[in-house]
Amino acid sequence: MIDTVPATIAPKVIDEFARELGPGGVLTPEDDLGRYEASPNLWSGRAGLVLRPRCTEEVRSSLRIARSSNLQVLPQGANSGLVGASVPDVSGGQVVLSTERLRSSFLLDAASRTLTASAGWTLAEIQDRLAEDGLRFPIEVGSNPNVGGMVSTNTAGANVIRYGDVRKRLLGVQAVLPDRAGTVIDTLSPLRKRNEGFDATQLFVGTQGRYGVVTAATVEVDPLPRARAAAWISLAINADLSSAVAHFERSCGETLTSFELLSPAGIALLKGQHSRLLQRLPCVDRDCLLIEVGTHDSSAEALLQRSLESAADKGLLEDATTGDVESLWEIRRIVPAITERMEPALSYDVSVPRGDISRLRTTLRDCLAASFPSVIPIELGHVADGGLHLILALPSGTPTVGHEQVGLDRLVFDIVVQGHGGSFSAEHGVGPKNHHAYRRYVPEELRLLREQLRQLCDPDDVLVGWAGQRAHGPILMPE
Ligand SMILES: Cc1cc2nc3c(=O)[nH]c(=O)nc-3n(C[C@H](O)[C@H](O)[C@H](O)COP(=O)(O)OP(=O)(O)OC[C@H]3O[C@@H](n4cnc5c(N)ncnc54)[C@H](O)[C@@H]3O)c2cc1C
Repeated sequence: MIDTVPATIAPKVIDEFARELGPGGVLTPEDDLGRYEASPNLWSGRAGLVLRPRCTEEVRSSLRIARSSNLQVLPQGANSGLVGASVPDVSGGQVVLSTERLRSSFLLDAASRTLTASAGWTLAEIQDRLAEDGLRFPIEVGSNPNVGGMVSTNTAGANVIRYGDVRKRLLGVQAVLPDRAGTVIDTLSPLRKRNEGFDATQLFVGTQGRYGVVTAATVEVDPLPRARAAAWISLAINADLSSAVAHFERSCGETLTSFELLSPAGIALLKGQHSRLLQRLPCVDRDCLLIEVGTHDSSAEALLQRSLESAADKGLLEDATTGDVESLWEIRRIVPAITERMEPALSYDVSVPRGDISRLRTTLRDCLAASFPSVIPIELGHVADGGLHLILALPSGTPTVGHEQVGLDRLVFDIVVQGHGGSFSAEHGVGPKNHHAYRRYVPEELRLLREQLRQLCDPDDVLVGWAGQRAHGPILMPE
């Protein structure tokens, strides 16, 4: 059992890594390690070393040397994670294992409509290559994660209502365990049906590198829609969000790809520098919803139009604006980019059964107004999946670490989890940002089972885990 972390890494160990990983395989603090040490929402730490293996065998060697040298390893994909789990702690003793050079395999099986790709391929690269064959991997996010990161965080995004999350698209993985044998688990296969008992693939999905390093994955890909159409809509004053979702699901059928919320406080952020975008919205003082449909023929626009008209006939719709799909999406993409830079602010990524989303919003707003009247809630997100991104803009000067945060976290999470049977982490996973919620809301027997599995895969605690034996040391939180 490893119980101490060396602050600096011995030169002979660095040499051993370098011998195994070859030129460019090892970066030291003398190199510029900035992009491996800070995440997009500014969580940061210090890496003792960055390892960049090129193949599964080099991942095995990396883990073997780390284990025998008493080093902690943090797997890292494209470092776009939002919960602080992709950056090392501040000790300077952790080793980042970047998967960016794991790119040897990119195998499109057109007949099976599957792709097997090494962990380092990014989502944007995958989309570019698949587009040449009229295909795409239907995960739509504002970031550019890689294959290993997408599997490890179970990326979801704006198209879940139609295509599901990564777990739903995933057919198999290859992963290296940090155990003494350097076991490689390989379930890579274009097989859509396999009912042979425990599915080891699931061990690595959404578990954030807790059980092993994902080196490749096989996923189902889909034909690119031939036509897309979108609209921003505002609902009639008495219309309920769930009835609107149900209407558009029924009238658009499986062509409905996105259903996104933007609350008035989110719309207000566009005033000033982005005012030109306001005219693309049907109103600025009420919720707006972005709806997209995608079809395999040219009917998208007509279908959306019919669906909007029938919503108006049913008294659900107040107004709608249509237009170029990408320019309508610009609004949805700009708001999170603004909130990310907002300070002081706290952000939450929660979910409830989707029929409960309006009730959740009302409870949150009422309770926040009663206990924290100076906090401004900004709501957006994939509401048709029951997801809600909640950003709390705090009065200037409020510390976002310590008392205030814990008070607000507790209020938000208690309402979501205990009041509405929801989750404190809808999409972004668990990390230093929310591991206190993991301990509070995930039942003990489940945590214990996960820990027992972790010990089986990682008996010497080589991998950094947010809730395991080798939990993250302190890392710097966003100011
Ligand atoms: C602007 C923006 C928008 C976003 N929108 C969404 C969204 O709509 N939906 C959504 O789900 N997420 C979203 N995210 C979050 C983020 O992009 C996803 O969590 C993404 O899947 C992380 O992948 P990554 O490759 O960047 O992994 P990283 O951030 O590098 O790592 C994330 C976690 O996975 C582990 N890990 C990474 N690679 C491996 C591997 N090969 N083996 C084992 N463990 C590994 C890391 O240790 C860490 O715990 C957004 C982020 C940004 C910045």
